[in-house]
Order: sequence, then C-alpha cells, then structure tokens
Amino acid sequence: MLPKPAIVYTLLLMLSVSAVADSTYPVFNGEKALAHIKTQVAFGPRTPDNSEGKQATLDFIRQTLKPLSSKITVQPFTVQGLNGKNLWATFINPKATGTTNRIMLGAHWDTRPISEQDPDHSKQALPTPGANDGGSGVAVLLELARLFSIKKPEVTVDLIFFDLEDMGNIKNLPFALGAQVFVDQNPFYRPSKGVIVDMVCDKNLRIPQERYSKQQAPKLIKEIWSIAESQNAMGFYKQQGTYIHDDHLPFLKAGIPVVDLIHYPFPDYWHTSRDTIENCDAGSLEQVGNVLSAFVYN
Ligand SMILES: [Zn+2]
Repeated sequence: MLPKPAIVYTLLLMLSVSAVADSTYPVFNGEKALAHIKTQVAFGPRTPDNSEGKQATLDFIRQTLKPLSSKITVQPFTVQGLNGKNLWATFINPKATGTTNRIMLGAHWDTRPISEQDPDHSKQALPTPGANDGGSGVAVLLELARLFSIKKPEVTVDLIFFDLEDMGNIKNLPFALGAQVFVDQNPFYRPSKGVIVDMVCDKNLRIPQERYSKQQAPKLIKEIWSIAESQNAMGFYKQQGTYIHDDHLPFLKAGIPVVDLIHYPFPDYWHTSRDTIENCDAGSLEQVGNVLSAFVYN
C-alpha cells in the first residue's frame, strides 16, 4: 500500500495531467523550451560588452518568431550610456480591438555581466551564463509563441523581450532599464494586464507571490494563482514573497497591472558562473508555460 501522501500526490498528478490533456488549446512543450535556453547560452553572455553574442541572440529570437507572429518590431535605445534593444512581437486578434483585450507577456533577454555572488572570488568579474536568469524567460515566451501560432488566442497578445534588465547595482545603475525605456517610448501602449517571467526553469521551482505584484495587482495575482492551483503547478507557492525590482515595476508605476513570476529565494547559483543549463528542468518550464497559456486562452 502506498503511504497516504503518495496516494494524494498520485491523484493530484492524474488530475493535473487530465487538466492539461482536456484543454482545448495546444500544450506547452518543456523540452522545446529547454532547447531554447541551450541555444541562447551557446551564444555566450548577452551583455553590453559582447555585441556579437547579443546580435546572435536577437537574430535567433527574431528568426524564431518571424513565421509565428503578426508583427515584430525592434526598438533600439540608449540609456545611461548603454545601447539596448527591446523586441516586441504581436499576435493580433482583429476582433480584440483597443487595449481592453490585450495581454502583455515579457522577459528580459540580456544577462548579467558580472557574477558578484560567486563564492569563488576569481570568478566574480566574469559574466553569468544566464541559463535561468535571462534564458528561461525568453525560452518560455518563444515556446508560447509556437502555441499562439497554432491556435490564435481570443485576445491580442504582445511578447516583449526587454534588454538591459540585469545591470542593477552595477555602477549604481537600476534594474529594468530596458523595460522603463519601453514604457516611456510607447505611451500609447497600455495593455489590460501582463506577466513578466524571470528565472523559471529551476529543478526545484519556487515562485511565491512577489510583493509589489501582490500589493499593486492583487486581482491578477489571484487569477494566476487560481490557474496554477487548478493545474496543480507545485512551483507556484501561495505565499507572500519579497519586493523584487524587475521589469514589471515600470508598468506598475504607469498604472498597468503586471505581475512578476520569479523564483525566490534566489537559487544558490544566482548571479554566479554556475547559472547553467544543468540547473534547468523541462517540467518546471512546462508548469509556468501551461499556467500562462491558460491565462491567455481562457
Ligand atoms: Zn539577475
């Protein structure tokens, strides 16, 4: 006989599988998302001083989206002496007019140029590989794009890839530089709601309710966590997290409800040279991807 927790777990697992299988929308493939992380890491750091790696990554994102999306725009900008590029891909539903039926999903595509948390002091000046921190959010959005091209959502969806998120606390720079520029550069873009995904591939995924999100977009937090609960997405913790400076803040400041899905407490390889693909898991990516696809399709 199975011990009780195992029975419960098995039942929950069956429920979650059927919940996904019964869905009328395409299913998110974690292995495909994992492959997207590998590709990005192979381009090297996506940092301001590695223009080759950045260009290759941007080209990869653009080429992947090109056959899937209705419209792709790259918005170059200069801020604090740094050059950045935000990429904006839209999946238009002509029936969803105006901004009342418009959902934004965002992730940062840059990576951190230093590994200041690395216990090995000799590695602290090196860039992080950015598998989880940078790669995972992009990977989730790219795999979602595949789903949106298979079945058009009833709302218009914008996927935004923000540059220069992870320069925070380097030479007194703030986090989320690119997202702030995006909000400033596009004053007429005001989606009804949005979600940022950042660090979502860890094997032991743990996403609590980030504190700014919970305080300033409580309805949206409720909506997402009820989807997570219905899918038995174990990585979503119905607990209050801490305040995190991420790409959602410029949107919240502009009065747009945007929630940050981010792993916390940060894993021990966060901002180190060990932020590699070995820490990532297709199942974790799938949890986040399926919650987001239900969020968009329902
Ligand atoms: Zn970071």
